[in-house]
Amino acid sequence: MTALWEKILAPWKQRRQATLWYHPRYDAPTLVRLAQALGMIALRGKRVLAQLADDGLVRPGDLKPFPLIPIADLELFHSAAYLERVGRKSTLSRIFGIPEHEVKVDEILGAVRWAVSGTVAATRSVLSGEAPLAVNLGGGFHHAEPNMGSGFCVFNDVGVAIAKAREEGFDKNVVIVDLDFHQGNGNIVGFLEDPTVFNYSLHGAIWTHAEGSGNFNLNFERRIGDEEYLDILGKSLPAFLDKARPGLVYFIAGHDVLDTDPLGHFGLTLDGVERRDRRIMELMAERKLPLVVTLGGGYSAAACQAALQLTAAALGQRRELRCAEGIENSHQLRKVLAGIDPWDPEFRPQEGFLLNDADLWGDLDPASASAGLLKDSSAYEVEREMETSGVLEKFRDMGFEDLRVSVDPRGEKILIEARPAGQRTSPLQTMSEIAWRGDTTSIIPE
Ligand SMILES: [Zn+2]
Repeated sequence: MTALWEKILAPWKQRRQATLWYHPRYDAPTLVRLAQALGMIALRGKRVLAQLADDGLVRPGDLKPFPLIPIADLELFHSAAYLERVGRKSTLSRIFGIPEHEVKVDEILGAVRWAVSGTVAATRSVLSGEAPLAVNLGGGFHHAEPNMGSGFCVFNDVGVAIAKAREEGFDKNVVIVDLDFHQGNGNIVGFLEDPTVFNYSLHGAIWTHAEGSGNFNLNFERRIGDEEYLDILGKSLPAFLDKARPGLVYFIAGHDVLDTDPLGHFGLTLDGVERRDRRIMELMAERKLPLVVTLGGGYSAAACQAALQLTAAALGQRRELRCAEGIENSHQLRKVLAGIDPWDPEFRPQEGFLLNDADLWGDLDPASASAGLLKDSSAYEVEREMETSGVLEKFRDMGFEDLRVSVDPRGEKILIEARPAGQRTSPLQTMSEIAWRGDTTSIIPE
């Protein structure tokens, strides 16, 4: 091949510097309203993306589709008992500090599961060599322990992603650099017995007294500023990495360390936080360590700006960008979002997959159900039942993934959709629609 051709093809051969991960369903409307009512920033990931799209740094097609994580995979980190409990309004009411009557189980669990799916996809992206760095514009749910959620954290995205990577054969050590203001009890407790996962944390609020061997936990009882914080980080993190010798690093980039934060009590400035975040990314790049970044906490308006600066830096940009109010409704953003989940009701194929009752349900006979049986059930509960009874596994065995289960509001119909495995842009197909009225059950298509 001639030198000229080499030159022409070079940009296409180049590995991307970073991949971004986000799904329009990250933002549960109930939780957005709750945050706004408390005067806290909401829609951080969406606003960051909107700003990047507006500035031309992210174009339609840049953010790729990824599958919704199955409940079975959540069980790689969480206990079955907890996965059952979490479908109850009372559990979510406690985790988010909202009254039970305001809890919308499917909306909240859907949002959390998508964010977990984003961290899992980001992990696959760095481990497959697609890019050395991946940023999930959400996630960082580090208070979720295997058997308990708390502090706005239901499922632990980093915990699940590590467990999933293990299942897929990744066997090197893992480091979690947790720089959220609050200590990440979920990861510390979750990997307490695992000698291959190490937690590094600088924090101002203790959430667990569990230690774990090889972890670095430093709590500050006073309002620490930029220089002292960066100095401690600069002195302790490289040595920690030398010792832990990871093959994969997670960075929970909590921006509740900002001096403006209503829940955090550190005194870091936007400039200090930007230096911190860049330093982490540079440090991992120097060591050629695959890095997955999640946003974590951050509740002041400046947290949106900090997340934007971090993401721009990840994309190799040094331009001045501003996280503007209201930009999340922009036309540019809609075009970017359209490519993330190509599901479109009008594009559903008429041809479906014909399965009979016995294939699909086995012992779980929907004909025995009565009308409105599911009226008080969430789609999450129905899906969990299908997962534990092996119904969904049948679809995966047939070569499908990204299974989504929904229940109509009257509780008379279950819809199961999925995509052929590995075809990220393929639309969802209706696998089965199970409806019943009285004694009549039909599986569509027939
Ligand atoms: Zn926090």
